[in-house]
Amino acid sequence: MTQFPNNSEKTFKTLCERSDKYSQRVALTFKDQAITYEELNQRSDKVATELLTILGTSDLNESRVAFLMEAGLDYVVVQWGIWKAGGVVVPLAKSHPPPELHHTLQDSDPILVIVSSKLKRSIQQADFETTRVIDASQLLDADPNPNSANLQLPSLKPERRAMMIYTSGTTGKPKGAVLTHSILSAQITSLVEAWEWSEDDRIMLVLPLHHIHGIVNVLCCALWKGASCHISSHFDPIDTWNHLSGGELTLFMAVPTIYMLLIKTWEAASESDRSRWSRGASNLRLMVSGSAALPKTSLEKWEQITGQVLLERYGMTEVGMALSNPLHGKRRPGYVGSPLPGVKVRRVDENGVELGDSEQEGELEVSGPNVFLEYWRNPEMTEDSFKNNWFRTGDMAVVDGGSYRLLGRTSVDIIKTGGFKVSALEIEEVIRQHSAVTDCAVVGIPNEDWGELVAVAIVKEPYGEFDLEDFIGWTKNYLAPYKTPRELKLVSELPRNAMGKVQKEQVKLLFSNSLQT
Ligand code: AMP
Repeated sequence: MTQFPNNSEKTFKTLCERSDKYSQRVALTFKDQAITYEELNQRSDKVATELLTILGTSDLNESRVAFLMEAGLDYVVVQWGIWKAGGVVVPLAKSHPPPELHHTLQDSDPILVIVSSKLKRSIQQADFETTRVIDASQLLDADPNPNSANLQLPSLKPERRAMMIYTSGTTGKPKGAVLTHSILSAQITSLVEAWEWSEDDRIMLVLPLHHIHGIVNVLCCALWKGASCHISSHFDPIDTWNHLSGGELTLFMAVPTIYMLLIKTWEAASESDRSRWSRGASNLRLMVSGSAALPKTSLEKWEQITGQVLLERYGMTEVGMALSNPLHGKRRPGYVGSPLPGVKVRRVDENGVELGDSEQEGELEVSGPNVFLEYWRNPEMTEDSFKNNWFRTGDMAVVDGGSYRLLGRTSVDIIKTGGFKVSALEIEEVIRQHSAVTDCAVVGIPNEDWGELVAVAIVKEPYGEFDLEDFIGWTKNYLAPYKTPRELKLVSELPRNAMGKVQKEQVKLLFSNSLQT
């Protein structure tokens, strides 16, 4: 499935190997600490050597090593150390409750779990005792082992497995999507080329480090190009605004929810903070949004506040990034752009027949060196998700003038009501324009007469009055009758996962006891 068009096997260098040339440049900063590429290499060499010594081998040979650590310099040192020792990194999520950690550990079957001292309890609560667990400090702070002085680190071929990211499927439990070093490098180089990353770039990382967005798009891209990444321990809107306006950053990437929170914080700030933040943020060369649909209202508000037109892109754990609005040129609101360098994207109809450039909706399929290798130990699921070497994304889209517009996922965001197929995202876009609505999530709920009924959970404006009749009348002005919500629920907030993505299955559950419209 994987070829190496970007890197012939002979000249292939992993992310860590190619960083030698940036030696004295600052790779990472965290709070008041900084680490150069040379230091990152030295420290991760030491972690790799310790790992090999502890496990009594000269090559981890693609064994999985799970790690649960806070965002920070040590996270990257350990990640690189596992790679350099020949292992497969399995990042665990701090936000995951014990049953989810248990599932990830059981499924990935790691040879070792590395955990920071503060997070040890989470691993204990995950009730997973079949694997050895060590404290990260044992690797990071250990005195050099005299027996390891001559230990040679393994050389890594491009087709070796590098990382497994657990991705939440709409059905069943999360699956481990496996990336090789070659796939990882294809995902990185595509973005580096499209968004013109350079050594002079400096990005801030506010995203979780168990998801492709933070790991690949932010961290790996920066380190691939010799740029610098400032790591935040967590997303804090005021701290983020201060960094965005501090004159240091050239790039910023986040999910729509983060932009929405930044907008709210700006609106609540003093006049002087607002103008300082706006002025400073206008100087970045690029701001990117992705991983969920960016509401047009947020795009417009962000432009009003910062002068920045957010670049929206589309991707998923299994394929990396696939579509992007242009770096130079017009970014179309509501569209996710065209295929990224080296990535092939097409749309097919219900019978798998390829569709051309048309307004007829079709499912997106992706192929190229960026597409993942397999779902870990799940050959049936892997096989099912490909058709003739094309990965079936489950996302529906139309295309206009070469630019794609997403309609949602086949399974949750496409609602079949009264024989009509409607896009939940499209209805949400309309409802968000209502003056009493802050945010909303549209779902289809089972109904005998209609197949599915359109239902909406609404977060209302905190100070506004929400008049149901008025709202229904208003929606009829903007939506075809079959698209207007038939059930409605007011909520204080929408259920979201760690990436800020609305959990539609949970929204559906809200309607067991709903207000009929
Ligand atoms: P994940 O693997 O967690 O990154 O989730 C991938 C899914 O997020 C895709 O299959 C899409 O359904 C959704 N997604 C990613 N980017 C966008 C976007 N720009 N607009 C709408 N949905 C998106």
